[in-house]
Amino acid sequence: MPQKRKNIKVNPPDNKIPINWLTWFYMGAGVFLVISLLFNNPGTKEVNWQEFEQNFLSKNAVDRIIIVNREQAEIFLKKELINDPSFKEVLQPRFSKEATSGPHYIMNIGSVETFERKLEQAQSKLKIKEIPVNYITKNNSFWNLLSWLMPLVVLFVLWSYMFRRSVGGGPGGGSSLFSFGKSTATLLDKENKSSVTFDEVAGLEEAKMEVKEVVDFLKNPNAFTKLGAKIPKGVILVGPPGTGKTLLAKAVAGEARVPFFNISGSEFVEMFVGVGASRVRDLFKQAKEKTPCIVFIDEIDAIGRSRSRNTIFTGANDERESTLNQLLTEMDGFGTNSGVIVLAATNRADMLDPALLRPGRFDRHIYLELPNQKEREEIFKVHLRPLKLNDAIDVHFLAMQTPGFSGADIANICNEAALIGARRKKEKVDKQDFLDAIDRVVAGLEKKSKIISPEEKKIIAYHEAGHALVSWLLKSVDPLIKVSIIPRGKSLGAAWYLPEERQLKTATQFKEHLCATLGGRAAEEIMFGEVSSGALDDLEKVTKEAYMMVAYYGFNEKLGNISFYDSTGQLETGFQKPYSEETGKLIDEEVRKLVNDSYEQSKLILHENKKTLTKIAELLLQKEIIYKEDLEKIIGKRAIDITA
Ligand code: ADP
Repeated sequence: MPQKRKNIKVNPPDNKIPINWLTWFYMGAGVFLVISLLFNNPGTKEVNWQEFEQNFLSKNAVDRIIIVNREQAEIFLKKELINDPSFKEVLQPRFSKEATSGPHYIMNIGSVETFERKLEQAQSKLKIKEIPVNYITKNNSFWNLLSWLMPLVVLFVLWSYMFRRSVGGGPGGGSSLFSFGKSTATLLDKENKSSVTFDEVAGLEEAKMEVKEVVDFLKNPNAFTKLGAKIPKGVILVGPPGTGKTLLAKAVAGEARVPFFNISGSEFVEMFVGVGASRVRDLFKQAKEKTPCIVFIDEIDAIGRSRSRNTIFTGANDERESTLNQLLTEMDGFGTNSGVIVLAATNRADMLDPALLRPGRFDRHIYLELPNQKEREEIFKVHLRPLKLNDAIDVHFLAMQTPGFSGADIANICNEAALIGARRKKEKVDKQDFLDAIDRVVAGLEKKSKIISPEEKKIIAYHEAGHALVSWLLKSVDPLIKVSIIPRGKSLGAAWYLPEERQLKTATQFKEHLCATLGGRAAEEIMFGEVSSGALDDLEKVTKEAYMMVAYYGFNEKLGNISFYDSTGQLETGFQKPYSEETGKLIDEEVRKLVNDSYEQSKLILHENKKTLTKIAELLLQKEIIYKEDLEKIIGKRAIDITA
């Protein structure tokens, strides 16, 4: 649901520093240019030895020479000669100062010794009086200073530019260089209230109960504290994406009527060291000023990831670690009844540092799960409210069609159905729009324009018919709803099942599922004598499932009741396997055997029902989509049918 919510920065004064660093840079560069023009003695011409000897020495015009820093000779001409018309041609000083006092020319000398030798030789050759030569060391402090400063200035400008880009890019990121250590949380308070209420959160009854308690405490802390109860400092919401964690937090903000700081974990961490910790500090400082209040940190795994993980490979964890340490310190720092409650959300609780989850910090863990059928009905009801619906829409039916869908998926389907209805120029959204929306969300957009040759189409039809038939005949495979050979998204054909909502799955159910998944390839082999690449997706699923059966669920007799599953996730990145090489071999062998057996069983089923298989494939080729009812006409009713 669209919400009206104004984002305001918590720290507006800091963000208003009207300095544009680039303007400073340009101004500095301008000043530098002007100064360098003024100091660069443009009136003093440079000459080489030949010109010097020919024009000045031979005419005995040189008054004196000053060697600067043993590398440059400044040539001063005799005063009386400067205004001599015969010198006018060669002497073209731009500034009258140089014209009178000099140096009038400069000359780069290779080395002092060579210069002296050459000068001596020339003097004796030309028989002129010895020219006084002085040696001085000039310390051009301005240029020295500039040569030091310039790289620093350039570095600073580059740094501030990069900084502004990275800091300014984040949501709510301050545009000023001085606000990067400030928290970027958005604040919802009396003026900027969250409009979400608990009414808009469907299902999730237990979770709502728990967070309601937090709201109650904030509204009336005395009722709890007078009995000596301590209110949790932190509540963490854990669940798959789209299950309503953020929604629940927003509802808390809407109902609690206390200031609500909202920030995402990733907003703490910048490319600069120390920023994260400083932002955490700032966030809690602001929160403490506004007690009672709620701080909501979304995607907390961005900072709260376990500190022992991945350090060998990434090495770049220091910043995140110091941010996490700061968060732990802050959470320890405020008293239990100080009125700041931290809500956090994540979909990877297993990744979180145990220190974060221990009592005293996030001491309440609320697990949100994918909604069951009843909850889906309620979520549908919430999201159907704003739509104009045809009377025939049955919420129960929609909930049945969407097993495994999250709240976000359901919200998406409702919106998608309204869009489809509008595109079809309907007055009201009807059942078909919803069915199409579901298909679209599940399998992607229909691609009728994809070019498929008749031979390919035949293979696809038999492949899908194979899935349909095997799954129909095996009792524990989820019931089939429809089969299609219209390409959608990446797939060329698909079979839709209605997964039963069960908490446990037996070994037989697993095995039969393997058979049904291999049914496509088995049908190809039986009908055409060879197999195609179309089973890639199926094989991937089968392999993963078979490994899970053998190595995780302990379904294999030879391996016994052993599981190599690692709920802590510590082994995920490790190269070391938790089993010996022999066990590894045994696992591979048993998985291969399991998959082969399932494939053979699939082939056997299809072999015995070859005629039926052909009938289904023919019908598919003719109609492109066939439904459960069509299959019933061909095969007869399925033994157990929960879709009825
Ligand atoms: P999460 O933070 O768990 O990833 P969100 O809270 O952002 O998920 O959910 C996304 C959207 O899904 C919400 O804005 C809402 O429209 C819808 N939604 C999710 N769960 C529910 C629910 N229980 N009731 C109503 N709508 C829900």
